[in-house]
Amino acid sequence: MGHESRATMIPPSTICHLCGSEHLVTVQEMADTSGRPTAIQLCTRCGVLRPVVSSYVAQNDPVLEQATYHAEVWSDFGPETAEQLRKDVQGIVDSFRRILGEPSDSPVFEIGCGRGGLLAALKGSGYRVRGCEPSEELVAKARKGFDFSKEELTCCGADEFLNRVQAEGSLGHVFIWHVIEHVVDPLGLMRRIASIQKPDSYVILQGPCLLPEHVFPEHYMFPTEPAIHALAKNCGYDIERIEYDYSLGFITFVYRRNHDVVPEAWVELPQSMSTSLAMIVERHAQQHREQRLMRDLAAARILGEDRYAAVDRQRLLLSERERTIFDLERLVANERIVSQDEAQRRVVAEEEIQTANRMRWELDTVVEAQRVLIQQHEARILHLEQLLEHAQTTSSRAERFFRRLVRSS
Ligand SMILES: [Zn+2]
Repeated sequence: MGHESRATMIPPSTICHLCGSEHLVTVQEMADTSGRPTAIQLCTRCGVLRPVVSSYVAQNDPVLEQATYHAEVWSDFGPETAEQLRKDVQGIVDSFRRILGEPSDSPVFEIGCGRGGLLAALKGSGYRVRGCEPSEELVAKARKGFDFSKEELTCCGADEFLNRVQAEGSLGHVFIWHVIEHVVDPLGLMRRIASIQKPDSYVILQGPCLLPEHVFPEHYMFPTEPAIHALAKNCGYDIERIEYDYSLGFITFVYRRNHDVVPEAWVELPQSMSTSLAMIVERHAQQHREQRLMRDLAAARILGEDRYAAVDRQRLLLSERERTIFDLERLVANERIVSQDEAQRRVVAEEEIQTANRMRWELDTVVEAQRVLIQQHEARILHLEQLLEHAQTTSSRAERFFRRLVRSS
């Protein structure tokens, strides 16, 4: 097997997954992705949020379980979809280019490469790359799809990978992209990285915000701003950047390796801060909802415009049709039958009138159907607008409340 066996089990629900504190409070109940009611716990020491469903005991090595789960999720990934994936994630590399600097001899690292899209985009942008992924299936697919060498993409877990990197040299910039929430010991991983990383190198992370669609048994925790700060402090990192993507419900955070190696020291969050953290949950949900409504509304408006345009086109066709019928009828009425030829022309004209009338009737039906659709559509737009207005009101209320609490803490 490419991964090492680990004795570590996922901590029970009485201990914080990130800092090991027993000070956990349930701040919310929500349905997980399969509709099961799930308690969301907040650690009042580090500020991380975790669904209690995540405290299930893994049947096997948790790393192996995660590897198997992701290999299943991406089972239809193959060389034919590889290029599209690389294109889709190119924007990630572009947005961090300033931080990464120009490509050099020093590789960019990735822990938990999955299908290898990000590693491929980095490589395609001229960077030397080194990554690890514990799933043998995904590594085989990524090597095939992107032509990675064994050195570029290693099949192993993070611990073994970091041991190898340390034996060979030092660690530079690291991507941990949608991985930290799947890791059994995130603090251990970050401290291990910090212990061998060159000063001023970056760790670039993205993870999910707490939203019902992100509550899987495979997500052990949800990063929050206080937790991101606490984790940085306990690993010797400075915070370079924290950004939200409200439309997808993701949080990106970038750490810069500090020169000092710090001993682990946790400070209990101020009471007001831990209260306000409950508001973060609400705030994320509201912002996400607002973004989604705005997207739906924009799509509905475009569709509405398309429907109006379709009706206009049909109306134009109708009026052309009517003109033809009028011309033909005049022709039939005015023409005297003086020759065989003209009689034939008249028969043809009458047939054409019939066809044109039928088409007019069909077009009328289409226009009527479109009219009904437009009515329904306008009602939907109105409904979306009302929902959006409501979401914006509650969202800005949550935002104001949160800011006030943060200021007073
Ligand atoms: Zn904690």
